[in-house]
Amino acid sequence: MIVIKSAQEIEYMRQAGKVVAQTLHELGKRVKPGVTTGELNEFADEFIRKAGCVPAFLNYQGFPASICTSINNEVVHGIPGLRKLVNGDIISIDVGAFYKGYCGDAACTFPVGDISPEAERLLEVTKQSLYVGIEKAVKGNRIGDIGAAIQTFVEDNGYHVVRAFVGHGIGQKMHEDPQVPNFGTPGRGPRLEPGMTLAIEPMVNIGTYDVAIMPNKWTVVTKDGSLSAHFEHSVLVTGGKPEILTRL
Ligand code: MG
Repeated sequence: MIVIKSAQEIEYMRQAGKVVAQTLHELGKRVKPGVTTGELNEFADEFIRKAGCVPAFLNYQGFPASICTSINNEVVHGIPGLRKLVNGDIISIDVGAFYKGYCGDAACTFPVGDISPEAERLLEVTKQSLYVGIEKAVKGNRIGDIGAAIQTFVEDNGYHVVRAFVGHGIGQKMHEDPQVPNFGTPGRGPRLEPGMTLAIEPMVNIGTYDVAIMPNKWTVVTKDGSLSAHFEHSVLVTGGKPEILTRL
């Protein structure tokens, strides 16, 4: 069932989203060679709590940290720890927070120092694909319109969208109906209505879309070892333009 949010619920989600955006913004300033992913996690956990929110990922189905940090060939759900960032890495950071019981969820892939032109292009295309998808999150469209737009854009740029993980409705739970795939057929799937809130999150691989899960049972990697990027926003469907809830 897709929950239509009330004005009060949307206000809480705006607050959660703002804190998520601020956390990502601050993390971006701290991404540099020599920093460990564990240090980034500690910073984020404290920042989220000081802002009056609760980290959404910590203990979610047993996840052991407050953010996900996924480096290079890691797609999503990387676990922060002792790994140090190295010049030329790319790191996808996913942040979720609850404010008064309502969730915000967003992700961004950051360059570490100087990255290759290929990596730079992957980041640019993936980020753009998120906005191409968000543009389709309007009243009267269907879920498939979002995924189809993202898929077409990404594939036209020579890359591939991950199939095994998808975006989602968001609200009192981090993952609600409907699923929001980053691929699909225009005109298919549930119809979008004002008050729906969606986390749109293209995961884009330079190589094939196949992924594997590491023995830690969390970290998702590209099967062919190619680089992967991930951008995400939580978005409100309105009567007009979609509202991005996870922005500064
Ligand atoms: Mg998400």
